[in-house]
Amino acid sequence: MKTKVTEMFGSMVFDDSVMRERLPKDTYRELQKTIQDGRPLNIKIANAVANAMKDWAVERGATHYTHWFQPMTGVTAEKHDSFISPDGHGKVMMEFGGKELIKGEPDASSFPSGGLRATFEARGYTAWDPTSYAFIKNHVLCIPTAFCSYSGHALDKKTPLLRSMQAINRQAMRILKLFGNEDVGSVKTTVGSEQEYFLVDKAYYRERKDLIYAGRTLFGAPTPKGQEMEDHYFGTIKSRVQAFMDELNTELWKLGVAAKTEHNEVAPAQYEIAPVFSTTNIATDHNQLTMELIQRIAKKHDLVALLHEKPFAGINGSGKHNNWSISTDTGVNLLEPGDTPYENAQFLLFLCAVIKAVDEHQDLLRLSVATAGNDHRLGANEAPPAIISIFLGDELTEILKAIEEERAYSGKEKELMKVGAHVLPKFPKDATDRNRTSPFAFTGNKFEFRMPGSSASISGANIVLNTVVADELRQFADVLEIAPDLPSAVHALIKDTIHGHHRIIFNGNGYDDAWIEEAKKRGLLNLRTTPDALPYFIREENIRLFESHGVFDAEEMHSRYEIMMEEYVKTLHIEAQTMIDMTAKQILPAVSRQIREWSDTLCLKRQVGEQVDTSYEAKAVAMAADLQGAAFASMEKLKEEVASVQQLELEASAAYYRDVILTRMEELRLSCDALETMTSAQHWPFPTYGKLLFGI
Ligand code: ADP
Ligand code: MG
Repeated sequence: MKTKVTEMFGSMVFDDSVMRERLPKDTYRELQKTIQDGRPLNIKIANAVANAMKDWAVERGATHYTHWFQPMTGVTAEKHDSFISPDGHGKVMMEFGGKELIKGEPDASSFPSGGLRATFEARGYTAWDPTSYAFIKNHVLCIPTAFCSYSGHALDKKTPLLRSMQAINRQAMRILKLFGNEDVGSVKTTVGSEQEYFLVDKAYYRERKDLIYAGRTLFGAPTPKGQEMEDHYFGTIKSRVQAFMDELNTELWKLGVAAKTEHNEVAPAQYEIAPVFSTTNIATDHNQLTMELIQRIAKKHDLVALLHEKPFAGINGSGKHNNWSISTDTGVNLLEPGDTPYENAQFLLFLCAVIKAVDEHQDLLRLSVATAGNDHRLGANEAPPAIISIFLGDELTEILKAIEEERAYSGKEKELMKVGAHVLPKFPKDATDRNRTSPFAFTGNKFEFRMPGSSASISGANIVLNTVVADELRQFADVLEIAPDLPSAVHALIKDTIHGHHRIIFNGNGYDDAWIEEAKKRGLLNLRTTPDALPYFIREENIRLFESHGVFDAEEMHSRYEIMMEEYVKTLHIEAQTMIDMTAKQILPAVSRQIREWSDTLCLKRQVGEQVDTSYEAKAVAMAADLQGAAFASMEKLKEEVASVQQLELEASAAYYRDVILTRMEELRLSCDALETMTSAQHWPFPTYGKLLFGI
């Protein structure tokens, strides 16, 4: 018998209803205060909560607990401890105290810290984030935690995200006060992240070292059929994939993740899942869980999920659309155009804060999504370009222009549009939702940031978004708080902002080459690769920005810069080594076998008689031998180059990987892919694109 979804949903989460039911009233009230105000929890309360949590978890089959955290690797980390405690009589009891709930000390010396944690002080500690509920996953009670060094430096992706949420709360509240919103207690950003991924057959995956080591195919000629027919997008979901999706939904629902949408994506074997949006830090936790479960459940169905940004050349890569908005605790979406002049003025002000933030901080937004994997996607012909711009839609752009130029918005209106005095002309919502090529699109009541890569934590992008918008709101509040006449000050501020930043608004086709030229004329940044983008992070003005909002200090930023740069270098190093390995051990020997077969046939044909046509074998042998020679030469050069890079400093080696090694890898791939197209399936040493993409 199937359980009802409504009963199943959140059944493995120690959420508010469970707390209310299981905790003594005053404990519950204290905990609520902690959650709302971010106050520290005292040990008495923590003990009571821990005990209730343990009983609840044990009833549901849990035997262990873990502090679940998000180190700089981008994936989640957990170390399990069982609840057992010897009772002194040869038996055990199940125990879990407040101390274990609040704080953990994983021996975490092997996580990347970018030099923040000296080895003699290798220990970091984890601290419970009570704003994210504990949950049970695989018999383990998971407690969402932040991960810091003993000096208090953040070593993870959660801590700065929580800090950035505080920053935007502080500044947005100042603005809301000015508009007289007395009932609002706090402001939070909300996120719904659409997750794209590929599924391939597990048996084929196992034969591809590139997929195993690098997560993407480093070789592979295009198949006769790609995505040109557009028949996969929103197509009927195959039963094997549907079975996987059903199980994925069920498991996510149990964990309280509101999985909502599932469909086939554009490329063959590509899919998407999207949840209903939630508060940013919960959405981030839930996206991490979603990625983990996609991978785990795929295996149960003899599939492997690829979360890489560009697993296959020649077809679309995978991204993660980060839908972002700002919301009050009274349920008002601050990026939703309102019905009254007064609501509209407030909406326009928040809208302008985002526009100004994106224009002034293109560098930070770009680098927040910069990884070796995403470099293959951004700027290719399917994803947003590496240039940041905002899509607002024609209607809203017109309205802003009218405000800027102090003229009537449409022929019908006789009066000039005055912010705060007039209602915004209604514009159809779906008119804003049609552009698919913009990296940052307004979609009616939220912004959709489409650049994040499919494998990345969404934390990085949201830390930047929250902080840069907080900074603009601070500047606005500084001006407005001392303005003698608020309505005219708001009007002037909006007008000036539009005037100063309209270069960032672009409603056209972002894939068009003409846009690259146009963007250059407008003075927009075009940071094509990760090593181009990352150094902006540690520019003085950016360190000042993050420090002033208490999101990062200078040390944390330098360490993160180093970690991201190292990750780029390591990723390319692994890819280069994998290519060398596959070429030397698989491709070149396979081609030799093929050449031998052709040569044998050629000799036999000649024995039959002079008149027998041997053109196929003769030419194939010559061509294949040439290509094989070229592949061998490229591989040898690649080996030398990889060896030589070891002596370089971090920045120089990142540049060398980007400029020299990546180019050499492409050269090697070119001859190998050409060899694939002429080698018989029997000899080619691993499954081709045809099997990987159409084999399910
Ligand atoms: P698309 O047309 O881009 O495929 P979807 O409907 O699949 O759009 O996804 C939109 C996402 O935006 C969903 O995850 C949805 O919950 C989320 N979303 C909707 N409203 C908000 C909001 N106010 N804040 C953040 N995310 C939101
Ligand atoms: Mg989308």
